[in-house]
Amino acid sequence: MPDPSSVLAPGFTTNPYWWDAAPPEAAREALPEKTDILVVGSGYCGLSAAAELARNGVDVTVVDAEELGAGASTRSGGMVSSGQKLVIGGAIKGVDAQRMERLLEDSLASYEHLKTLIREQDLDADLAVLGRYFGAHVPSHYDRLRRQGELLARHTGVTVHEIPKARQYEVTKTDFYHGGIVIDDYGGLHPAKYHRALRRLAAANGATLRSHAPVLKVHPAQDGVHLVETGRGTIRAREVLFGTNGYTDKAQPFLQRRIVPVRSYQIATEPLPPELMAEINPGRRMITDSKRELIYTRPAPDGSRILFGGRPGAFGVSEEEAAPRLHAQMLKVWPQLAGYRVTHCWSGKVGMTFDKIAHMGRHDGVNYALGCNGNGVALMTYLGHQSALKLLGKQNRTCAFDDPAFPANPLYTGNPWFLPIVSGWYHLLDGIERRLASRG
Ligand SMILES: Cc1cc2nc3c(=O)[nH]c(=O)nc-3n(C[C@H](O)[C@H](O)[C@H](O)COP(=O)(O)OP(=O)(O)OC[C@H]3O[C@@H](n4cnc5c(N)ncnc54)[C@H](O)[C@@H]3O)c2cc1C
Repeated sequence: MPDPSSVLAPGFTTNPYWWDAAPPEAAREALPEKTDILVVGSGYCGLSAAAELARNGVDVTVVDAEELGAGASTRSGGMVSSGQKLVIGGAIKGVDAQRMERLLEDSLASYEHLKTLIREQDLDADLAVLGRYFGAHVPSHYDRLRRQGELLARHTGVTVHEIPKARQYEVTKTDFYHGGIVIDDYGGLHPAKYHRALRRLAAANGATLRSHAPVLKVHPAQDGVHLVETGRGTIRAREVLFGTNGYTDKAQPFLQRRIVPVRSYQIATEPLPPELMAEINPGRRMITDSKRELIYTRPAPDGSRILFGGRPGAFGVSEEEAAPRLHAQMLKVWPQLAGYRVTHCWSGKVGMTFDKIAHMGRHDGVNYALGCNGNGVALMTYLGHQSALKLLGKQNRTCAFDDPAFPANPLYTGNPWFLPIVSGWYHLLDGIERRLASRG
């Protein structure tokens, strides 16, 4: 275990790097007594739904238990793609071909929606489409990645380049990976700036945004009106939409039983010399790998430093403990980063589902859109928008993620007791695979 004092830079903070530019916001004004549509959760999903509803003249209120943007949306890696998680994450294995086509179609639509929204509304989000590299953790993964690249190209039309190990330095100067694939069409944005821009858009369209108002219970509608108890009083609402993703709690037990919160951690390095940045990531791409416990890394949007994410161990740890562990993982891939310390280490919760697919729908009169499975910058924005269109009766067709079959597991009621076991197992398998590969 590395000595933390040699890794943490002076002024080290456990706030996300992204908050330096755009921190979450409090909105503690009084809650309205009634609203037409109440949105629970102020992430991309909730804000995107609210922006569209308000644009259509609906009286909509967004409430969050914490500050606006305190959830995953201002903590993520900011990587954006279309359908990659469904194919590479393996969700499509258990899905029939027709549904898979529809899911991929809507994933592609989510990416297009994000780009159009940012362009047309002139959102300050630092979106740059410079590609993503997927590195092969062991030699046999190179062929697997090539096959997955072919599938993605076929189903989503992306441009894929195969990068054999001999050419890897063109993408990144590391000997850790055994080649990989570059997908040109993927990109990255500044997640907290994007969130701030969505907050401003929703408010400018007329939505009411309120922080520090945890929803505690939603009473079944009577005469078409729900009574929603919050920590700051009761709100009467005709419709309620939950966009609570990895932060879903007992306010909706049906959803809590279906969402497994998984904590992901990231670090930011000190500013690096431009020559070193150019060596590590000359194309300023997003980079991830083929491990079960994968890492994800990218340059900051201004190109000044590296942001590196992953899981620091099987058990949840503090950010202070996570920082040296992630730093050590980063040095395994790029030893040339030794000597550069960590300025920020933070974490956030991703909402996993038992079928690895996000879900929107309605249960007992309450609407929901959640379950990003670690891939929600574009998708949760889109599912919020789709939920709004559905509530407005304006959808052209049913969204593929709107599926009444939302699996639960009888052994899970909201406490993810099995995560250390699964994580430890994945970590072990990744290690064994690598050791076996190194013996040839
Ligand atoms: C570390 C990390 C890295 C990630 N990297 C990427 C990436 O590179 N690319 C990508 O596409 N995705 C990534 N993700 C996932 C992405 O951030 C999420 O999918 C997305 O932000 C989810 O948005 P959301 O609006 O659904 O939920 P969130 O932004 O998590 O918002 C949910 C909100 O609900 C609120 N809430 C919960 N319960 C209640 C209640 N009872 N009452 C009131 N409010 C409540 C919470 O306080 C929270 O603010 C990452 C996530 C994490 C944590």
